[in-house]
Amino acid sequence: MSTFQIDFSSARKRRIIGIDLGTTNSLAAFMDLTGPEIIPGADGSRMAPSIVSLASDGSFVVGEAARRLLIDAPERTVYSVKRLMGRGREDVAEELKLFPFRIAEGSEQVIRLALGDRLFTPPEISAQILKELKRRAEQHLGEEITQAVITVPAYFNDAQRQATRDAGRIAGLEVLRLVNEPTAASLAYGLDKRREGIVAVYDLGGGTFDISILRLHEGIFEVLSTNGDTHLGGDDIDNRLLAIALEDIASEWGEDLSYNGEAVQTIRQAVIRAKEELSFQPATVIDVEYRGRRYQRELKRELFENLIRDIVDRTLGPCRQAMRDAGLEPEQIDEVVLVGGSTRIPLVRRAVEALFQSKPHSELNPDEVVALGAAVQAAILAGDVQDKLLLDVTPLSLGIETMGGVVSRLIHRNSTIPASATEVFTTSVDGQRNVLIHVVQGERELVKDCRSLARFDLKDIEPMPAGMARIEVRFLIDANGILNVTARDLRSGKEQSIEVKPSYGLTEEQVEAMIRESYEKAEEDLNERQAREARVEADNILAAVEKARVSDAWLDLTEEERAAVDAAINELQVVYHSSDHRLIRDRIEKLDAATRRLAENLMNTAVRQALKGARIEQEKTGNDVERF
Ligand code: ADP
Ligand code: MG
Repeated sequence: MSTFQIDFSSARKRRIIGIDLGTTNSLAAFMDLTGPEIIPGADGSRMAPSIVSLASDGSFVVGEAARRLLIDAPERTVYSVKRLMGRGREDVAEELKLFPFRIAEGSEQVIRLALGDRLFTPPEISAQILKELKRRAEQHLGEEITQAVITVPAYFNDAQRQATRDAGRIAGLEVLRLVNEPTAASLAYGLDKRREGIVAVYDLGGGTFDISILRLHEGIFEVLSTNGDTHLGGDDIDNRLLAIALEDIASEWGEDLSYNGEAVQTIRQAVIRAKEELSFQPATVIDVEYRGRRYQRELKRELFENLIRDIVDRTLGPCRQAMRDAGLEPEQIDEVVLVGGSTRIPLVRRAVEALFQSKPHSELNPDEVVALGAAVQAAILAGDVQDKLLLDVTPLSLGIETMGGVVSRLIHRNSTIPASATEVFTTSVDGQRNVLIHVVQGERELVKDCRSLARFDLKDIEPMPAGMARIEVRFLIDANGILNVTARDLRSGKEQSIEVKPSYGLTEEQVEAMIRESYEKAEEDLNERQAREARVEADNILAAVEKARVSDAWLDLTEEERAAVDAAINELQVVYHSSDHRLIRDRIEKLDAATRRLAENLMNTAVRQALKGARIEQEKTGNDVERF
């Protein structure tokens, strides 16, 4: 296990916890002075089953306590909610058939789970699990916890990631970063320290199997391929043992208990205990006590392995496919990491070792390693770990050109990918029919100092007065680092998009040089940007006054008022090219004051707004709308 340097001066800072929000189990960890540590529950348990139940008094029960309610109150108890996160009704139609709980009827895509007579979205249910982990952390650490790093499967798409963020927000946690589960596991093992290499992460949990192949380059993890089976894991093993026990009991007791929920749950717990013991000892006893009767059966590891061999073998196909997709042979894989409680099974370990031809990492508890890695990432973000590194991130910011040749950034440097951002822009000229979308990359404030990635026109937008059009620009970087830019006229619905690979043709040195330059030129750039923005504003108000001068409103002004406006225009024009944005803004304000009555006289709201120097508010977010 690697050690991390801790900066004691920041030890007093708010702690950020790492969370593994799993399908079967969830847990949290934090960075201690010696390394990452699991946060235990009040009862000493290291993880909480991802089960949520709504009690009759309207409060939520989470974890082990909720597991009991799977039998007593199945209509109010939910498990495996992770499978529904960020999914639409159509995406999970097959999945829903396997769930016993009720889904609200309706034609809308969003899924709502009916618990008793109340409806909840999957993020609201997940939030209850997060709240429980937050509570555990606050009790254990004795301080309020408001920030977290949460892990997600590498294959999670944008909607699934967004739903996870939402769950965090609902739970009162600011999600500083979503980290891919395989990346977190690699971090827990300190594999980033080797800087270069190929890592395969084999994750066999309760109900899902994931294989991810990562390339580590300069300390950055890149996902080369993912594969798996969304319905393969420890549950399949449990079901097989359960079926055997039920058969035995039926013949011994002369009673078929398969339809008795309570009995099945009791037997299930017993076979799970036996399964887990067999990972550490050569033989065990399946021991069931139910309503005064007892069933016992010895189970040797050898027989157990024969019983589950085909289940383990089903993980190998996806592993081979993932290697093919990454264009790699087993001998090119440098490190193999075991994740998920089911990888404690010796047969699984042997199968993985045989396939990848190298001994997998198993020094850390496989069901804790993801949470531990999340805590490492949290400490990095908190600045507690000096050895900074970048993980699944965009190396440079991405944005578009707006008025005055300045860059409006949509996705910032170091954002975790996949990433997306949407912003609404408007036009700067009356009746404008085309807008040029110029996609740029870099850290500098001005387009001329950034790298141009692509240009395209959004044609035939609805002609509108300047500032009235609504053009939505959406940036989406997928897990492979491909950037998709879409521009859409919100009034006509016309849209146009383009795809680019932002890292194409860029060397590591160039990226570093671009970042360094942005630091060196930061002040200069900011001044220039502010001056340009002030000039754009000056253009707007000058154009608006020009327009107003031919209106009746102008004639309503007194001689002196008109002279004052003319003088203010003149003064603004004199300082227009100044590099001092404060000076330009000061003159804009003076012109604004001089034209106040003129503005009041005007009926045209667009002109009035421009005269007030006010930008039009974006309806939804309240952000300023920038102009092309
Ligand atoms: P998930 O990531 O799906 O939330 P976990 O990684 O916590 O799940 O894995 C849960 C599964 O691991 C369960 O099926 C559990 O029975 C199994 N498991 C835990 N410990 C052992 C063990 N000692 N031997 C075999 N299986 C185990
Ligand atoms: Mg897991």
